[in-house]
Formats: sequence, structure tokens, C-alpha cells
Amino acid sequence: MVSIIYSKDFYLHEPPKGGYHPENPSRLDIAIRALQSSGFSVVEAGDAKPGVDALNILFRVHDESYVRYILKLCEHGFEGYIDGDTYVSRGSCKAALRAAELTLLAVEKVASGEEDTVFVLTRPPGHHTGVSGRALGAPTQGFCLFNNIAAGAIYAKLKGLKPIVVVDIDVHHGNGTQEIFWRDPEVIHVDIHEWGIYPGTGWLTDIGGEGAEGTKINVALSPGAEDDDYIYTLLKIVEPVIGSAKPKLIMISAGFDAYQNDGLADMRITQRFYKTFGETVKAIAKSLATPIVAVLEGGYSTGLKKGLPAMIKGLAETQPSKISEERLKPSEKTKNTIEKLIQTLKQYITL
Ligand SMILES: [Zn+2]
Repeated sequence: MVSIIYSKDFYLHEPPKGGYHPENPSRLDIAIRALQSSGFSVVEAGDAKPGVDALNILFRVHDESYVRYILKLCEHGFEGYIDGDTYVSRGSCKAALRAAELTLLAVEKVASGEEDTVFVLTRPPGHHTGVSGRALGAPTQGFCLFNNIAAGAIYAKLKGLKPIVVVDIDVHHGNGTQEIFWRDPEVIHVDIHEWGIYPGTGWLTDIGGEGAEGTKINVALSPGAEDDDYIYTLLKIVEPVIGSAKPKLIMISAGFDAYQNDGLADMRITQRFYKTFGETVKAIAKSLATPIVAVLEGGYSTGLKKGLPAMIKGLAETQPSKISEERLKPSEKTKNTIEKLIQTLKQYITL
């Protein structure tokens, strides 16, 4: 079973003055409709709250001054852009706080054993927000205000669920998440992203800071990567990393913008990868008796319509289909990238 939750407050984060922005409330409608028409129930969380003040957790994720700066913008009725990509409007703080809250609630639900897999349809997304906003020299915060997955991971650690593996399959590098956990060996962050696009980070040589070497794993794939390239990465990197870390919690930064023609990138993956990804992660999680918390990151059109329900189908699967590695045809570029990554990481982890 996958529990899928959202809050009506997520609709309050709206592009300023009626302008257009790809990260807008209609994404939530697209996601909910796609899930419901695939037979999944999506639950509005009502007044449900975690047993912790989300703000206190966000002060551990980000500099307190950054969190207060964003909150102050909303208090003062600000409506506009805080950088070239990222807007804040009147309802943004309520939405962003609620997104963090429901991520914390999801962690509680899996920590207590009430659920084993929870997917939160968070918006605004979060993985580009670092310690104090823009992360690792990125030009913008890439539509993100508070880092939801980082809040969930920090809360999970406080609850004793560690180590944690965060798998980020959004097409853009999760630079905020990497920055926040750079020196934290208890949060293993595997990030598959397209090389050469925003935010320009996520080099395969970025393996973690002192004391955390080998816990930050960047798979930068070339533009145009297809299902086989992603499934190959899943088998060669994601599966063994989770297997060797034996995490107490698996978290997924679930972006769907690597889907073919989703609009903001150049990857060409389809339902086949998302379903395989869900099945594979679920199967490892089951074998380790580890729960899963996923949060929505990017995904703007086709990816949400097709990739999201496919991943949920995979996560709900009890009998994963066997992947035959011999039948996969990853590109030479992908094989080289994976080989280089394995060589880079081999003194720290066995892959
Ligand atoms: Zn993205």
C-alpha cells in the first residue's frame, strides 16, 4: 500500500499577479487526476499535523535568518520574484510550511509503523534550497523555498531512523540537499540528473565532505538518456548503494521532469523506468524492512500525467518483475559515466 497525501494549502503558492510559471497550482490537479484515474486514492490531509513544530525543524535545515526572511516576505504581503526563477506570493509561506509539515507527518507515520510507504505531493518543491537559499553557487533557488526532503531526513534522524538514503531522480541536481548534508555521513544522497543544465552542479567527483566521503553520489547523465540508461543506473548504483547502507529510511526526491517531453529538460524516459524504479526500491525496502517516504519535486506535464502513476504502481507492486541486465542497452556514455563513478567511489563503498 502506498499512502498518497497532500494539503489544499499547497494551492496557495501561486505565481504573482496572475502571471505564468511552470511551477503552478495546476500541477497538483494534473497529479491528482492522473493518480485517481489510475485507481489510487489521494487524501487531503485536513488538519493533520506532526507532533513537532515544523519551524523548529526548518531552523535545523536552513539558517534561521533565511527561514525568517521568507516568512517576513509573506507577512509583508510581498508578491514577486526573489530571483530569476523563484516566486513568493501571499500564500507561499503557508503552502511551504505545510509541505514541510506533511513531510514530517509522513516520517512519523512510517516511524510508528502505521504506514510503510508515504508519498507527499509537496509544493512548492524543495531540493534546490540549500542552507541559506541558493545552494552551491546556483544562480537561483529553482522554484524551491524550504527543503522538504531535508526536513524529513533531519526529523527522521531525530527519531532514530538512520542512516537514511535519499534518492533524487528529478532531472535537475538536488544541490540544496547535497549542500545541507555534505558533511553528514548518516544521510547518503544518490542523485541522478542531466549534465549541463540548471543548477550546473552534481559532479561525479562530489563525493561528500570530510568524514562523509562516499555518501554523496552523483550520476550526471548526458542529455537524451533513455529508460535503459536509467535502469542501468538503478541496477549498478542505486540498488547496491541502498543494499550496502542498509538504511532505516529510504527517501525519494520524486521529480518527473526527466520524462520525455516534460518541458524543462532533454531526457527521454518513460513509464517503464518509473515503474521499474518504484518496484526495485520497494523490493529492496521490503527485504530490509525499511519504510519509504517520497516527496514531489519537479515534473510539469507528461511526467506528472504518466511518470507519477507509474512510480506509484511500482511502489505498490508486491511481485517485482525481474530485470534482465543483459537485455539493457545503455549508451556508451552512460556506461563510461557509471564506470568512472564506481572507480571514484571504490575506496569508500563497494558497488
Ligand atoms: Zn527539476
